[in-house]
Amino acid sequence: MFSFGEDIGIDLGTASILVYVKNKGIVLNEPSVVALDTNTGRVISVGSEAWAMLGRTPGNIRAIRPMKEGVIADYEVTEKMLRYFINKAMSRQFFKPRVMVGIPSGVTSVEERAVRQAAIAAGAKQCFLIEEPLAAALGAGLDIAAPAGSMVVDIGGGTTDIAVLSLGGIVISKSVRVGGDKLDESLVRYMRRYHNMMIGERTAEEMKQEIGSAWPEERENKEVEIRGRDLVSGLPKNIIVTCDEAHEAMKEQIDTIVAASKEVLERTPPELAADIMDKGIVLTGGGALLHGLDIRLMNETQLPVHVAENPVQCVAMGTAKALVNLDLLESARSFKRSQGRG
Ligand code: ADP
Ligand code: MG
Repeated sequence: MFSFGEDIGIDLGTASILVYVKNKGIVLNEPSVVALDTNTGRVISVGSEAWAMLGRTPGNIRAIRPMKEGVIADYEVTEKMLRYFINKAMSRQFFKPRVMVGIPSGVTSVEERAVRQAAIAAGAKQCFLIEEPLAAALGAGLDIAAPAGSMVVDIGGGTTDIAVLSLGGIVISKSVRVGGDKLDESLVRYMRRYHNMMIGERTAEEMKQEIGSAWPEERENKEVEIRGRDLVSGLPKNIIVTCDEAHEAMKEQIDTIVAASKEVLERTPPELAADIMDKGIVLTGGGALLHGLDIRLMNETQLPVHVAENPVQCVAMGTAKALVNLDLLESARSFKRSQGRG
C-alpha cells in the first residue's frame, strides 16, 4: 500500500543509523558500516550486512565506518550509505518525503552539502539538517523552546557531545572524541597488558555491557568469562574478569567524559545553571546505558542526572519532532535549509 509522503528523520550516527518515519516510529536501526570493493570503489553492502563483514573481509573488500569519530571522514561513502537508508525507508512510498538529518555539530559546509545532496538524490523532496544535541534533547522530551536552560550529554560511539540549550538553540557545547568505541579499545588494551590476552572488538563490547561500570560498587554483575587468544601460546583461552578490572580499564575515558561535562557546566551562565540544577542533566546515546555513569555524574556535579527513556533512539525521534516544529527551529537558526526542489 502506498502512503503519502511521510516525513523521515535520520540519525546519522558514528555507530548506527536510525530512521524514524512519522506515525510508524523507528523503521531502521543498522550499524553505520559500508563494505567496499577496494579495486573498483563499488559499495558491496551497507548496514547490518556490512557489519557482519567487519574483521572478516578478504583482500579486495574493505568494511569501513565512514562516520567514525563524529566527522564525516569519507563523505562519498557517507553519501552512498545515506542514499541506501533513505531508499530502504521509502521503499513503499509514492510521494517524496521531507527529510531531517541529525548531523554532528562539527561538520563542515562541504560535508553538509554532501548530506543534503545525498538526501535529495535519494528522493527527498526537501532536506533539513539539525545539530545532534538539539535533536537529542527534543527526542528526550525536553522543552528546548522554553527560555530555560537544559543540558544534554549524548554519548555515542565516536564522540560525547555535551550541550546547554535554551530558546531552541545551543548556548554552550563541547564535543570530545571519547565515546563507546574508546571504552571498547581501552578494554582490549587492558586485556592485552594485564592478561596477555588478545580479544576482539565484539568481545570488548560484550564485556563493557555485561560488567562495565562507571560506579562498580553498585554493579550487580561482578564478573564474566572472557574468550580470547593467549598472546604467549597463541591458543584460545577463557578467563574470568571482574567489574573492578573493567572499571580500572575504562577509568581514563570515563574521567574525560565527566571532566568535559563539568567544564560545560562551569561555562554556563548562572541563570541557565540554576535551571539545570532544578531539571538535571539528561543522558542520551548508547553510551548513556553504561552502568553507573549517571551515578558518577551525579556525584561529581551534585546535580540530578537522568538517563533518557530510549537513549539510543533520542536523536532519531528528535529529528522527526523537529520536522513538525520547523518554525521553532527556524527562528533560532539552528538548522539549515536545502535548495531541494519540491
Ligand atoms: P552513535 O550516535 O555514535 O551512532 P549510539 O548512540 O548508537 O552512537 O551509541 C553507540 C554506543 O553505545 C556504542 O559504542 C555502544 O557500545 C554503546 N552502548 C550500547 N549499549 C550499551 C550498554 N548497555 N552499555 C554501555 N554502552 C553501550
Ligand atoms: Mg548519536
